[in-house]
Amino acid sequence: MARIAIGGFQHETNTFAPVRASFEDFEMADGWPGLTRGEAIFETFKGINLPLPGFIDAAKAAGHELRPLLWCSASPSAHVERGAFERITGELIDLIKKQGKLDGLYLDLHGAMVTEHFEDGEGEILERIRAIVGPALPIVVSLDLHANLTERMVRHASALVVCRTYPHVDLAETGGRAADLMTRLLRHGPLAKAMRRADYLVPLPWQCTLINPAAALYRVVEEAEGQGRAASASFAFGFPPADIAECGPAVVVYAEDAARANAEADRLIGMVNAAEAEFAGKIWQKDEAVRYAMNKSASTNRPIILADTQDNPGAGGNSDSVDLLEALVSLKAAGAVFANLYDPETAKIAHEAGLHASFERGIGAWCGSSGLEKFRGRFEVLALGDGNFKATGPFYRGNQMQLGPMALLGIGGTKIVVTSRKQQAADQAMLRHLGVEPRDAKILALKSSVHFRADFQPIAEEILIVAAAGDNPVDNRALPYRHLRKGMRLMPLGEAF
Ligand SMILES: [Zn+2]
Repeated sequence: MARIAIGGFQHETNTFAPVRASFEDFEMADGWPGLTRGEAIFETFKGINLPLPGFIDAAKAAGHELRPLLWCSASPSAHVERGAFERITGELIDLIKKQGKLDGLYLDLHGAMVTEHFEDGEGEILERIRAIVGPALPIVVSLDLHANLTERMVRHASALVVCRTYPHVDLAETGGRAADLMTRLLRHGPLAKAMRRADYLVPLPWQCTLINPAAALYRVVEEAEGQGRAASASFAFGFPPADIAECGPAVVVYAEDAARANAEADRLIGMVNAAEAEFAGKIWQKDEAVRYAMNKSASTNRPIILADTQDNPGAGGNSDSVDLLEALVSLKAAGAVFANLYDPETAKIAHEAGLHASFERGIGAWCGSSGLEKFRGRFEVLALGDGNFKATGPFYRGNQMQLGPMALLGIGGTKIVVTSRKQQAADQAMLRHLGVEPRDAKILALKSSVHFRADFQPIAEEILIVAAAGDNPVDNRALPYRHLRKGMRLMPLGEAF
């Protein structure tokens, strides 16, 4: 039986977004639990689709003794504030020091954290921890599929294990794989490592593993382990809106010896490079998309989904852009639902006005991003909710949502789901909480790039990727990069940086 400390500290940083992540953002619960310390971790995370509980279940089954440290995450945003990073990392390290003798350490990190003072947040955390635990302690880290893998992470972790689905439905499973790898390292000692990078960025909507070429690529990665060519093989797409030198797709392979690790890493990155042309897909303009959806919805009873990807709060948008809403209302789309609009003030006014009342005001553009304007109109309050409900879809499965006061507003043929907390529209329960049955909508405009697919793709007639105003450009050429490494192509088959 081994004694393993466990913890987590997650942030996905869009260095181009307007709002930074403070300590309070990590402390607060959102779609995931808030900052949780010690034994409370076991109860709080039970059954949630996150790597940490996946690790806990598998490690307990393997007979290990677990020492819970702390876990926290904040919604994707701009840089993690220096104070927040130092306070949380400092506490994590203090907790590790207090554990006495450990046989292993598992961390549930994201892999795309940029702080005010470090380009590679996770690399910094791991380097500091490695310095105090010494070179021999097995440190296994699970990462998100959007991790921007860095050489520093690879150097200081004994093994990195990357999730394989986007929507991320296998987060718990990824934690389980990390636990299996930990057990292997404890029994048989360290593995050889090899990392390779691709030279082009893949926009988020095409990183989806429910469609090719990503689906096929991840099958190959999985087979590398299944067929015994690697002890562990991972591919991370990277998180494009991060202006850092090590942004982009990469593979990392662990094997018995360096020759095997290198050979498998070369083979996998070769496949990633060969898939480049397949990663270029259509980006719709908002009016064009709404007109197409209105036409198409006349001949089907399944909703057409417009992915409002550039305002995806899961990627640094604020979920407060009303640009696509404006197109739906002005083109007189019928049976449209727009979700989720993050606007606490409007939710409050709707609650004060009461059910069936109506009020006139400018909604949206709550966070003050430049270039976003409010949408002015007269809105009827169609439903109210307290924002407390259980998620039902595969992505947020089992999680208790706390979105604050919510309201369903109506204008023309469009209904608007308003929340008081920022949360990606990736679960049908968010709509049902306000009495909206997603299947009955003609058009669903969702502030999400890919995660919505887990719950919504099965009910959709067609899905369009729409470029309406927002802080998360789907075309990377719109981002003012300065720090990418030379030679990176901003889009598949595009010109080099
Ligand atoms: Zn992700």
